[in-house]
Amino acid sequence: MPLAGNGGYTVRRYTLDFDWRAPRTPFAAGATVEATATQALSRFDLDFAGNTLHRVTVDGARAAAERAGDELVITPARPIPRGSAFTVRVDYTADPTLRRHRDDAIQDYGWTPTPDGTVICAQPDGARLVFPANDHPSLRAPVTFRITTPAGLSAVANGRLVGTHRRPDGRVRWTYDSEEPIAAQLVQMAIGKFTFVDSSGPRGLPVRDVVPDGLVSDTEEYRSLTREHLAWLERRLGPYPFRRYGVLVGDTDQPVALETQSLSVVPKDDLLGDRVDAERNLVHELTHHWTGDSIALRRWSDLWLSEGHARFYERLYSEEHGGVSLESAMRAAYEQHDRWRHDDGAPAEPTEATLFRAMRYDGSALVLYALREQVGSRAFDRIERAWVTAYRGRAAGTGDFVALASRIAGEDLRPFLTPWLYGSRTPPMPGHPDWQVDPVED
Ligand SMILES: [Zn+2]
Repeated sequence: MPLAGNGGYTVRRYTLDFDWRAPRTPFAAGATVEATATQALSRFDLDFAGNTLHRVTVDGARAAAERAGDELVITPARPIPRGSAFTVRVDYTADPTLRRHRDDAIQDYGWTPTPDGTVICAQPDGARLVFPANDHPSLRAPVTFRITTPAGLSAVANGRLVGTHRRPDGRVRWTYDSEEPIAAQLVQMAIGKFTFVDSSGPRGLPVRDVVPDGLVSDTEEYRSLTREHLAWLERRLGPYPFRRYGVLVGDTDQPVALETQSLSVVPKDDLLGDRVDAERNLVHELTHHWTGDSIALRRWSDLWLSEGHARFYERLYSEEHGGVSLESAMRAAYEQHDRWRHDDGAPAEPTEATLFRAMRYDGSALVLYALREQVGSRAFDRIERAWVTAYRGRAAGTGDFVALASRIAGEDLRPFLTPWLYGSRTPPMPGHPDWQVDPVED
């Protein structure tokens, strides 16, 4: 996705204003982008698509703004010198029905209207449907959300509720602070008739689930497992890397959960069915907070690191809690691996069209399984702990992982991992000479 993100500046903070009205009603919105120029800028781009643009200013002065595909090309009245701070304000009318579809994913993405509100699923490049952003998975900035709702509805977003303010007309402004820098693809902003359910995780970690009023008791059984999931993952990956967590129950028929930072969105159907499936999904999104959220993707081709880890720990947890064994799941993935290499690209070599196909999930968990078989589970556990510690709060990619794994294991793992990650044929599985790959016929 070579056009994702923009050069020439770094964003220091986004402040987003949403004067929200109803699930499908356009409403007034604005974004204030505080940035620092990393080179002299006579013009620069933000990623922004759809919506109705009204006005762009840079440091308070009207700026020329042109739409070009998903780019908003901004020409300030005066060039911005290298190294200087500047503030962009974009006023627009937001369209809360804006969505896009990918052929490799089972859900649409962007704005997701619910019966009485909205949730956001921006991954991979839908943040630009919600606000003007430097929309690249490696680029992060803190976000302040100022969301105004009709009386009787609540708003939530990533991070901490700073406060609420009731206006004379009865509408309520909710202010949230993401607390940590966040990649645009992991932004959450949801509105609805919500109940906030507070609990705590290990060491008093604040946990706040956000649940549509009518779904509180029906989803309680599985939501209450978060404490156990946190403790289980902390035993493997060390301390949870953010200041709070929670599950946002999505009142939508979209079947996919998403690791929106500090507040994973999980569709209601995931929490109303089979326990083994529910726990897999909950542990998957929680695992992403170590791998994918805290460790950001250097680029989209590194997605296998995020989804592969989430799937690996999801399956490891499930094996211990009534699900199928990791080994049998990995054997089934091994059989499919040449097929997936052919159809989806090798684990670390997706194309834009195959990014979210099976190879990035079980196909990539299989690479981690192969690594564990190769180095042994004790060395593997040390690699994993070192990975989430060394790159906590940073962006990292495939080369970083291979180098770190080699250092921790005390052997150069490039000759082993390169064919697994990039080859056109699936290598033999260490320790399982009887495992066979199904042949691929064109
Ligand atoms: Zn995932």
